[in-house]
Amino acid sequence: MKDYAVARRRMVREQLADAGLTDRRVLAAMEEVPRHLFVPKLLQHRAHQPSALPIGHGQTISKPFTVGLMTSLLELQGHEHVLEVGTGSGYQAAILARLARSVISVERVRPLAEQSRVTLAKLGVENINVLAHDGAEGALDHAPYDAIMVTACAPSLPTNLVSQLKDGGHLLIPISKGSDQTLYRYRRQGDEVSIEESVSCRFVPLLSGVTAEGEQRA
Ligand code: SAH
Repeated sequence: MKDYAVARRRMVREQLADAGLTDRRVLAAMEEVPRHLFVPKLLQHRAHQPSALPIGHGQTISKPFTVGLMTSLLELQGHEHVLEVGTGSGYQAAILARLARSVISVERVRPLAEQSRVTLAKLGVENINVLAHDGAEGALDHAPYDAIMVTACAPSLPTNLVSQLKDGGHLLIPISKGSDQTLYRYRRQGDEVSIEESVSCRFVPLLSGVTAEGEQRA
């Protein structure tokens, strides 16, 4: 709808470009993907606000700047096979799918995985495969990945993710230390990973196990 396209243009200008994000491919993808279709109907009028929004099951769709920043940090060229951990609404996956060759996205809350599949199918997105399991395991069947993005905050770097990353690939993950969270960009070099970037951030926690109903297990 026309109003939503106008709202997206404004969102990209005010929340991304004016905030210092310059990757034209990322800005174009966020101008094109209909963000309002990834939030519950009752919240669609707020889809372009500079905030995270609830998507049910105690989870949220990340705010536009976070999606723009994380996507920019992966520096995708278009040929990559990408793993996302934490599908949530499917919005970040849809942005990645515009900028890479293929996306595997893993979500532990089964109803969210199912809902995101429906949304992505409606939009005709064909290069995303949503899987429902504990994303800290990665997705070995589809590995290795050129890039990995984790959209929930982990207590430490999951070794499975490092081992499923191609040599030279980027791994983006928020890690908590006490009440602080830092978003790290790692780069794999042989069997080593080194930190290339770090920025303070706020994400929902990465939880273990898989739930059918979305309850949060301790
Ligand atoms: N990328 C999402 C927002 C992510 S919110 C979007 O664009 O909408 C973080 C998501 O990570 C939530 O949906 C949460 O259920 C999921 N999550 C938390 N722990 C997880 C785990 N261990 N494996 C897979 N997904 C997980």
